[in-house]
Order: sequence, then C-alpha cells, then structure tokens
Amino acid sequence: MSWFKREDGEFDPGSGPEPEGEKRVRTEGLWIKCLGCRAVIFKADLEANLSVCPRCQHHFKIAARQRIDQLLDPGYELVDTGLRSTDPLNFSDVRPYKQRLQKAQEQTGLSDAILTALGRLGPHSVVLSAMEYGFIGGSMGAVVGEVIARAVDRARVHRKPLIVVAASGGARMMEGVVSLMQMAKIATALAQLDDARVPYICVLTDPTTGGVTASFAMLGDLNIAEPGALIGFAGPRVIEQTIRQKLPEGFQRSEFLLEKGFLDAVVHRRDLRAWLIRALEFLRV
Ligand SMILES: [Zn+2]
Repeated sequence: MSWFKREDGEFDPGSGPEPEGEKRVRTEGLWIKCLGCRAVIFKADLEANLSVCPRCQHHFKIAARQRIDQLLDPGYELVDTGLRSTDPLNFSDVRPYKQRLQKAQEQTGLSDAILTALGRLGPHSVVLSAMEYGFIGGSMGAVVGEVIARAVDRARVHRKPLIVVAASGGARMMEGVVSLMQMAKIATALAQLDDARVPYICVLTDPTTGGVTASFAMLGDLNIAEPGALIGFAGPRVIEQTIRQKLPEGFQRSEFLLEKGFLDAVVHRRDLRAWLIRALEFLRV
C-alpha cells in the first residue's frame, strides 16, 4: 500500500512486483486520483461532472474536442483540421521533433494542438477555437498560430463572435523563432477584428503560460478563466530567482489574477456555456 501514501506522481498499476498469491482485480483506467483533494474518483462520475472533481471542484484538463462538445450545440462543423507542421528547423533534441509530432498526432487524433469549430452557442453563431494540452503541452507553433489566425479572420469576415479556449505551456521551442512570430501574427489579426467591432472572448484554462498569455490569451474584449488555473508568463521559480522575493500565496492562479484586475471573471466549468451566452448578449451580437 506504499503507493497510497505517495504524495507526488500517479500510481502506476504496472510497476513493482506483484505480491505472491495475492489476487488482483484490474481496475486501471476506471479510477482517477484528484489532483486537488487526492480523493480517488470513479472516472465515469468525473466525466459526468464535466471533468470537475465533485468533492473539491478541481477542474481537470480536458481535450479540445471535449471542450467543444461541452460548449457548442450539437451539429457544429470542424474546420482547418488538415494543417501539419513542416518542422521548419529540422529540430532534434532527445528525439527528433518529427517523431514527437507523429506520436502526439497518434495519441490525440489531431494534427496539432488546436481545434476550431463553427457552430451555435445557444442563440449565437460563433467561431470557437480550443487548444489541446495533450499535444506537446498545447504549445504554439506555426500550425496553432495559423489555425487561430484563420479563426480570427473567419470571425471578422462572417461577423461572428470569436471564442478561444487557451490551454498552453507557451510557444513551441522546437519551432524557434517561427513559433514566436505567431504572437505578432495573431495579435495583428485580432487588431483587425477589433476594428471590425466583432467581439472576442478568451477563456484561460489550466495552464495558460508563456507566449500564449503574452499574446492572444490576454487580448480578449473579455478575458475570463476557470477556477484555480495557472496563468502566467514565466514560472514562479524563475520569477523568485530574478526578483529575490518570496511570491504571495496563490500567485498566478485565476482568483489572484481576478483580484489584481487581470481577468474579468472566474467562471466554473458548469456555468461557462451560460456565462458566454449572456456575455455575447451583453456585447450585442
Ligand atoms: Zn478533488
């Protein structure tokens, strides 16, 4: 039972020798340990609760497709799904970037860390882009940049409000400066959207950091977040080392950012759809 006391990392049912003679029932994949309260939750219960812990309300990361399903009415259309990275730098670290891409594509079923859907959010016809954290940490390379820029352009041309759900570790280092260029590209497209007076709401989820925070995630007409999400540019350790000061409690979490005026609201996942519908009504579209 040593795993039961373990405070970090997840229990791996495949590790360690099996006690002799002890019968084991395979339940892997059925249960999940909450990262907030460490309770063991039945996975089906968690999914039925929009992947929010029923005990402590910890918001688990969810896939882009699941996010779109939760927000839009059925019958939406996925667009720009065929774009793939060309590996412009022919980059390799421990493994070649091409291999990482291929593995992430197999694991997620997506071509990169983003999915855009056109559909209805109650009475509103919207463009919704959701980031996929499971794809190389939701990092932003040329494909993510291009797909978001296209979503912005669609929103502008068809005069439909844009909603982006961010979940990202920042720029994708394997694409170097090409990934950094996406920040300027998306920001430019968003400035045009603003000129056209089409609303843009960004939903920041856990985690939203680096170049994504530094560009489109903070450029919404409304910037809102899910509870307890890590939101920042550099990580807390880097900041502490730089300014040589202890950071305050809750630093870089949604509630702290709301209190300091960086966010317009912190919205529970179960209320998100209704909140967005009301906000779009308020923005008169
Ligand atoms: Zn919990």
